[in-house]
Amino acid sequence: MSVRRFMIHSRTVRDGCASLDGDLYNHMVRVLRLGLNDTVQLADENGTVHSGNIDQITKESLRVAITSTSQAVPANSSVPRITICQALPKGDKIDLILQKGTELGASDFVLFGGCRSVAKIHEDQKKNKLERWNRITAEASRQCGRADIPGVVWCINAGEAAGATNQALRLILWEDEQEHSLKDALTENTATPESVIVAIGPEGGFDPLEIRQFSEYGYQPVSLGNRILRTETASIAILAVMQYRWGGM
Ligand code: SAM
Repeated sequence: MSVRRFMIHSRTVRDGCASLDGDLYNHMVRVLRLGLNDTVQLADENGTVHSGNIDQITKESLRVAITSTSQAVPANSSVPRITICQALPKGDKIDLILQKGTELGASDFVLFGGCRSVAKIHEDQKKNKLERWNRITAEASRQCGRADIPGVVWCINAGEAAGATNQALRLILWEDEQEHSLKDALTENTATPESVIVAIGPEGGFDPLEIRQFSEYGYQPVSLGNRILRTETASIAILAVMQYRWGGM
């Protein structure tokens, strides 16, 4: 089983141990069934990551004996916060998009039900899906040594996703865009934007209504060239390009 990482406050760690109680204790012991000698990671607000083993458990608290401490990879301050606004793809492609997007520095994910999304999320599935998606980003953060964990939120449709936008630079990847390339969008403004959001369609692409909705909220349609990329390829490609453009790679 992969080592679970939990967010703590730095004052919790004293004399090589961390004593945990309350909600975190309940989650670790009652929900995740962690027990004596299990290895865990504790990440604090300074980006410090402590690894250790549970060496004491009572009815209300547990103690972790710290065995090693490292500094997590801080977010590169020159790179804008990058949000991936992804229409739900088929099957488990979203797992790949969340995992690779986390490794490639996405700050967070807004997932939504696209007009042409084959997969649908019913209200009663939402909580479990969100828990699962946030577990994927937490595990990917741990694996690549990030100090932060990208959050994942769900919007019912493109209109709700676009309406929640507050990023400085807004792009929508549209294979029918003839004028504006990604290169144009990332080079025409020399100043690095504070934040970026990129909307990406599902396998069936965007409906014209969705393109209009995003455009009404200031999203610029951009092309990734003449080849039609799979939705998961598009999200990986755009993150890699933006990391390179703004010095994250
Ligand atoms: N309409 C596409 C077709 O004709 O096959 C299907 C959509 S494509 C598989 C999935 C998504 O990836 C698109 O909605 C778009 O957001 C993005 N995408 C793929 N290729 C692209 C390109 N060359 N330029 C811009 N966006 C692209």
